[in-house]
Amino acid sequence: MSTPQRHDVLIIGGGNAGLSLAGRLRRDGCRDVAVVEPASVHHYRPMLSYVASGTATLDELRRPQDEVVPAGVHRYADHVVRVDPGRSVVHLADGTELGYGDLAVCPGSQVDWDAVPGSRAAVATPHAATSYLPELAERTWTMLSALTAGRAVFAIADRHTPCAPVGLKPLFAAADHWRRTGVLGDIRVDLLVEAPHLVQHARADRELRAAAADYGVHVRTGVRLDAVDPDDRALHVSGDDGPANLPYDALYLAPPHRAPAWVTDSGLGDAEGFVDVDPGTLQHRTHPRVWGLGDAAAVATVPSGGALRRQVPVVARNIRARRTRGGMRRYDGYTVAPVTTSLRHLLLAEHDRDGRPLPTLPFPELARPRRSLLLFDRYLEPQIYWHRLIQGKV
Ligand SMILES: Cc1cc2nc3c(=O)[nH]c(=O)nc-3n(C[C@H](O)[C@H](O)[C@H](O)COP(=O)(O)OP(=O)(O)OC[C@H]3O[C@@H](n4cnc5c(N)ncnc54)[C@H](O)[C@@H]3O)c2cc1C
Repeated sequence: MSTPQRHDVLIIGGGNAGLSLAGRLRRDGCRDVAVVEPASVHHYRPMLSYVASGTATLDELRRPQDEVVPAGVHRYADHVVRVDPGRSVVHLADGTELGYGDLAVCPGSQVDWDAVPGSRAAVATPHAATSYLPELAERTWTMLSALTAGRAVFAIADRHTPCAPVGLKPLFAAADHWRRTGVLGDIRVDLLVEAPHLVQHARADRELRAAAADYGVHVRTGVRLDAVDPDDRALHVSGDDGPANLPYDALYLAPPHRAPAWVTDSGLGDAEGFVDVDPGTLQHRTHPRVWGLGDAAAVATVPSGGALRRQVPVVARNIRARRTRGGMRRYDGYTVAPVTTSLRHLLLAEHDRDGRPLPTLPFPELARPRRSLLLFDRYLEPQIYWHRLIQGKV
């Protein structure tokens, strides 16, 4: 058996998590960090919500991958097909084997179309779309802005959907647009949220419900979208009131997500297929040299880019702690949802995994819609992402 090329720290996935960790490790003095990332274009995914709201273009959220990989980090432009944690080896699609001292697994999650039968066929029609895929984000706004009468349904899943409450951004942008163009009264807007709340932060939840009521949106929580019938343009839903069918003229989906199948096939997955880490230390429960972070990891909180600001320093520190037998740091479950309440205002819901507020700043109250927060999220945050976060300055 040949000896594979080995790296001190190998990272699977050069998205928000992988690049932030790679940059952070380099800044901390780790000399040999490599990332496996097949995509030649990097996406700043939070901007997809603005594309779906008609206020940004896809060009604004894309950069060539090789321009954003932190200096000194080697990139393998291939995808991982399997990990052999017993041998500490990662297998790439082209047959390359890579060894590692420590392995960070952060390949993100993928839309799980199979979880809602009919949803993939529905988004192939002009009557349904999602902001969760770049190719459909632009179509979301085309669909919503063209609607002048009928029924618009927004369905937000609670099955590993990244930063699920941001699915409300296209809703409030559309409602604002419909009001401005004088058609809001002719459109029935239904919001179906699978979670028991719009956002897991009591104050922000109240603000969002008040904003929805102001636009006349019919809000239901605890409602699961079971299937879509694109031919009849009907939704099959279930909840406390039992099963029901709803017609739609425009359907927006924030769909369920799943982790890549090879995570489980490699013996790294939990019961739902996500990387089975201790949600505090982010260390794999059975393979101590394997770490998990980002959307693919089972960290028991709403996945978000903001959560990575706390996860990345924890993994970087704990890799060192494992080697030196030092004390490990713990991730507190922090996550964040920046949600617009109109085309001009946004609130920030920052909380832990139990919904307890965890504000970055004690003042002002960021869970109240503000113009300044929208400007921050839309214009400043992307610059922070490109120039600081994914360069490891976290
Ligand atoms: C529409 C939308 C809006 C969002 N809005 C916000 C927001 O406003 N605020 C916020 O905090 N968060 C937001 N998020 C969530 C945020 O974008 C994610 O939490 C974050 O990108 C997760 O980072 P990640 O690195 O785990 O996954 P990703 O960013 O998805 O990166 C995973 C990377 O792994 C690569 N990969 C996949 N498979 C393999 C493989 N087999 N081998 C090697 N590499 C692989 C992929 O190509 C990808 O580059 C939003 C997400 C979406 C989709």
